[in-house]
Amino acid sequence: MAATLIDGRAIAQEVRAEVARDVEAWAADGHPRPGLATVLVGDDPASAVYVAGKQKACREVGIEPFDHRLPHDAPHAEVEALLHELNDDPRVSGILLQLPTPPQVDGPALTELIRPDKDVDGLTPVSAGLLAKGRPGLRPCTPVGCLELLRRHDVALEGAEAVVIGRSDLVGKPIAALLLQANATVTVCHSRTRDLGEACRRADVLVAAVGRARMVRGDWVKPGAAVLDVGLTRTDDGLVGDLDFEPAAERAGLITPVPGGVGPMTIAMLLRNTLAAARVQTGAPERRGASVQPA
Ligand code: NAP
Repeated sequence: MAATLIDGRAIAQEVRAEVARDVEAWAADGHPRPGLATVLVGDDPASAVYVAGKQKACREVGIEPFDHRLPHDAPHAEVEALLHELNDDPRVSGILLQLPTPPQVDGPALTELIRPDKDVDGLTPVSAGLLAKGRPGLRPCTPVGCLELLRRHDVALEGAEAVVIGRSDLVGKPIAALLLQANATVTVCHSRTRDLGEACRRADVLVAAVGRARMVRGDWVKPGAAVLDVGLTRTDDGLVGDLDFEPAAERAGLITPVPGGVGPMTIAMLLRNTLAAARVQTGAPERRGASVQPA
């Protein structure tokens, strides 16, 4: 393999250690500890695992977790009332509604009720608008995690050709906006893109966020490119990314594996967003590196 592997687990661990240190300093200054409220409706086992992981991660860095679980038949209005309560609770710096929700609960509509300064998932229309305008705000965790991986490997983004495959609100669009803000020249590809291979071959920075196992061929990778694989597909061979990894790694300069690449960054950035939200809510000056800064 010619490429250097980007070790997402190690970088996520570094970010978590930094957040833990910053939370201790924040508390030592007399501030209440940041708090993260998770809201889980129903008993979907995968969602329960995700929420438990977020709760555990909070405890490890000194963020206070608030674990709200509602039964699978909880009415929409009950979840809505809980979100309003959390919006008004000063102990809660960040709120996360775990999606998907059961059919009687309109999860995406409820997400929009989260106060923008507590929107640690960065998914409300206000957060998306702030990102689009390049103004301070909370950024979505996986996209900002991708930028952090590039930053920690000193990948030069200014003037670079960046290609993002995928245009979802959750991943593709925010990654493209963050790369644009970093002064890359950004192309966004999707299912109607005519010649995906040709677009990818131009990329100094290639981000695949599709969810189709091994669809990005090795010969689509420009020699020396930095390549991030956000895609996750469960197959008989285990968890697989969007890259045809081995041939891609023969040409790339830097590359993320799956698992252990982009994935671990998501919770690390959620923790960082929660601390950043607490700072903003108490009127503290924003800190460099917090994702409330234009990235
Ligand atoms: P999504 O909403 O399904 O979006 C997929 C995107 O890929 C769409 O924009 C779609 O284009 C595009 N696409 C589909 N087929 C294509 C093709 N043949 N050629 C080019 N583009 C194609 O998925 P998502 O939520 O963005 O997630 C993408 C992947 O990232 C998934 O595998 C997901 O599991 C993973 N993910 C990982 C993390 C993490 O690691 N922490 C976090 C979030 C998501 P159209 O818009 O034209 O349909």
